[in-house]
Amino acid sequence: MPKAAEVIAIDEQPQKVKINLLGFSASRLGDFFDEMGEKRFRATQIIKWIHQMGECDLDQMTNISKDLRERLKDIAEIKLPEVVSCQDSVDGTRKWLIRVDGGSCIEMVYIPERERGTLCVSSQIGCALDCSFCATGKQGFNRDLTAAEIIGQLWIAADSFDQFDPKAKRRVTNVVMMGMGEPLMNFDNVVDAMSIMLEDNAYGLSKRRVTLSTAGVVPALDKLSDVSDVSLAISLHAPNDELRNQLVPINRKYPLVDFIESARNYIDKMPDNRRKATVEYTLMDQVNDRTEHARELAVLLKDLPCKINLIPFNPFPGTEYKRVSNTALNRFRDILAGEGYTVTVRTTRGDDIAAACGQLAGEVNDRTKRQERYKKKLDEAQPVRIIE
Ligand code: SAH
Repeated sequence: MPKAAEVIAIDEQPQKVKINLLGFSASRLGDFFDEMGEKRFRATQIIKWIHQMGECDLDQMTNISKDLRERLKDIAEIKLPEVVSCQDSVDGTRKWLIRVDGGSCIEMVYIPERERGTLCVSSQIGCALDCSFCATGKQGFNRDLTAAEIIGQLWIAADSFDQFDPKAKRRVTNVVMMGMGEPLMNFDNVVDAMSIMLEDNAYGLSKRRVTLSTAGVVPALDKLSDVSDVSLAISLHAPNDELRNQLVPINRKYPLVDFIESARNYIDKMPDNRRKATVEYTLMDQVNDRTEHARELAVLLKDLPCKINLIPFNPFPGTEYKRVSNTALNRFRDILAGEGYTVTVRTTRGDDIAAACGQLAGEVNDRTKRQERYKKKLDEAQPVRIIE
């Protein structure tokens, strides 16, 4: 008779957790095959199957011997996050709600334009930074997304546009890391996922067409220039520390001078010296939209090769901010243009399905108290009926 402890050991044999190959970059997958005692070129084969042909079933990967497929299946799998819903806006913008392990949901948005199609990808479940004007921050924070969950978003979009068919037109031409989360707070996974975006045997996007956007995690930005040269967007939203401390709290830790210097180093290190950073500036009525803010911004940015993207604030439930007026927007743009900057105004897209910048909320199983406070505030803000 087996002893009780042995019985328990047998009964409780856990289901083997398999390695998810979806988020493995070419070099990581190469190391993985090395460790298996296999040739590194297997990595290229697998990457092509997953990210070029859209095949996630190891059994269908016919140029890999049956024997190796069986060994792989024993330890590994290719597992995608689950699409919960997909909504289309009247303007062609599409928004997905995607469930990840643990039950939270993230959002991803596709924005078609005449010359390109941009996929806005999330990097975290919620966001820890709590910028005062962003809906994601109000949801609190759960965890970083894995590399598989980040690249899985591009896979899902590519699949939904039949892009894995070699004859199909490529609908996703650009990726911006501007969805939920702060990509530089999830450094390794974001770098791995971006390398799959750029990889010729995967999505083959040019480094100009992949953009990382950051609110200013300076040490991570310094580190990024050593391992990546994707396009950079910096979320400024204010021309001085006093105002920026209120809007983007991480500014208290890494003030504007440091952020801008770090961005400049990133741009300077790029082999191609024609490149510029994109400065994002969300304009809110009476907050950061005055003439003096525009002038101050022009001075602040004088040594940074950049173009400026002005984003009219998109409202969300419970926010105290208002969209900039058209007069203030035009005035702001003209001042910067007059100082020689290239200025673009981001048109609001997908507003009807809450897919516009800063409106992504998902369903975050919050680990902070922030969501609770936000919901309480919303409840309290219910209009009071006036009894006459
Ligand atoms: N954490 C990163 C990535 C998120 S992208 C970052 O801050 O850059 C967030 C971008 O969405 C910001 O640059 C800002 O331009 C925009 N944004 C956030 N909230 C917004 C809102 N309510 N209206 C318009 N744009 C907003």
